[in-house]
Amino acid sequence: MAETGARPRVFATRPLPGDGLARLAAAAELEVWPGPGAPPREALLAAAARAEGLLCLLTDRVDAALLGAAPRLRAVSSVSVGLDHVDLAAATARGIPVGFTPGVLTDTTAELTIALLLAAARRVVEADRFVREGRWREWAPDLLLGRDLGGATLGVIGLGAIGRAVVVRARALGMTVLGWSRGQTEVPGVEAVPLDALLARSAFVTLHVALTPETRGLIGERELALLPRGAVLVNTARGGIVDEDALARALASGQLAGAALDVFAREPLPPTSPLLFAPNLVLAPHIGSATLRTRARMAELAVANLLAALAGERMPHCANPAVYGPDAARR
Ligand code: NAP
Repeated sequence: MAETGARPRVFATRPLPGDGLARLAAAAELEVWPGPGAPPREALLAAAARAEGLLCLLTDRVDAALLGAAPRLRAVSSVSVGLDHVDLAAATARGIPVGFTPGVLTDTTAELTIALLLAAARRVVEADRFVREGRWREWAPDLLLGRDLGGATLGVIGLGAIGRAVVVRARALGMTVLGWSRGQTEVPGVEAVPLDALLARSAFVTLHVALTPETRGLIGERELALLPRGAVLVNTARGGIVDEDALARALASGQLAGAALDVFAREPLPPTSPLLFAPNLVLAPHIGSATLRTRARMAELAVANLLAALAGERMPHCANPAVYGPDAARR
C-alpha cells in the first residue's frame, strides 16, 4: 500500500465514535492524537510531517504551510462536509486528494436547524431559564409569547443537500418557503427569488451555503436591515457567513426578534463576544451533526476515503477531483 510496501503512516487528530479507526488501524500504522481537544498547531505540523495520510476534523487547519511541511503526505481526509479549514488549491497543486463526508450528516443537520428554528420562535431556552429562576408565579395570557412557524415564510439561503432537507421539513410544518442559491437551483415547493427579495419577504431565514471567499460576510448590516422587523435568523452553516457584530446590534435594536446559532466566526465562542450579551439568542456549540449514528458514519466515510487514496485508488468522496485528471468531476 505504501511506496515501500510497509503499512502507511496515518495521523488521526482525534479519537472518533464507531469502528472507523479500528478499520484504519488494521491497515495502517495509526497514530491518534489522544486529546483532550485538538492537537495544538505545533503537534499537528510535527505529526503531518511524518504521515502519508491525515485524518482531520474541521478544527484542524490544513493550509499551505502544513502541506509544505509534510513531504510524505499523499492523502487528507476530513471528517466533515464543510472544507473551509482545508486549502483545497494548495492540496490540488501537490496532487493530494482531499476527502469529505457528504450525505450522511444531511438529515441530522437539518433536524438541528428545525430544532433551532422552533427554539427561537417559541423562546424555549428563555422559557426554561424562566422556570429555573423561580420567576413562574402564575399562568398569564401574555407570558413568553412566540411566533408560529405554520403559515410563516421561511427563506432558505443555499439549496445544497442540507438546505433542501430543511425545505422538506419546513413544508411539513406548513411554512411557505423562498429559496436563493447562486446556481438558481430549482427545488419543488420553493419559490426561487433573488437574495434581497428573499430577505425582504422572510419572517424566518436559515443559512446553508458553504463558507467561501464569496459567502464570507454574506449577511451583514445591510442584509439584516432588509429583513422585516421582528424576523428570526438561524445559522447552522458556518459563522463567517454572518457579521456577528451587526447581528448582535440587530438583536439589541429589535430588528431581529430572535436568532439561533450553531456556528461562529471563532470557535469556541470567545467570552468577549457581543453575541453572549445579545437578547433572544439561542446558542449551540457546533452540534449540527452530533448524533452517535451520524458521527460514526462520518468517521467510516472518512476512513474509506483515506484507505482508498493510500491504496492508490480514487477516493469515494473527493472534494478536489482535479487531482485525478482534467476531466474528473466532483462527486
Ligand atoms: P452542499 O450540498 O455542498 O451545499 C453547499 C451550498 O453552498 C450549495 O447551495 C452551494 O450552491 C452553496 N455555495 C457553495 N459555494 C458558494 C458560493 N461561492 N456562493 C454561494 N453559494 C455557494 O453542502 P451541505 O451538505 O448542504 O452543507 C452546507 C454547509 O453546511 C457546509 O458547507 C458546512 O459548512 C455546513 N455544515 C454545518 C454543520 C454543523 O455541524 N453545523 C454540519 C454539516 C454541514 P450551489 O448549489 O449553487 O453549488
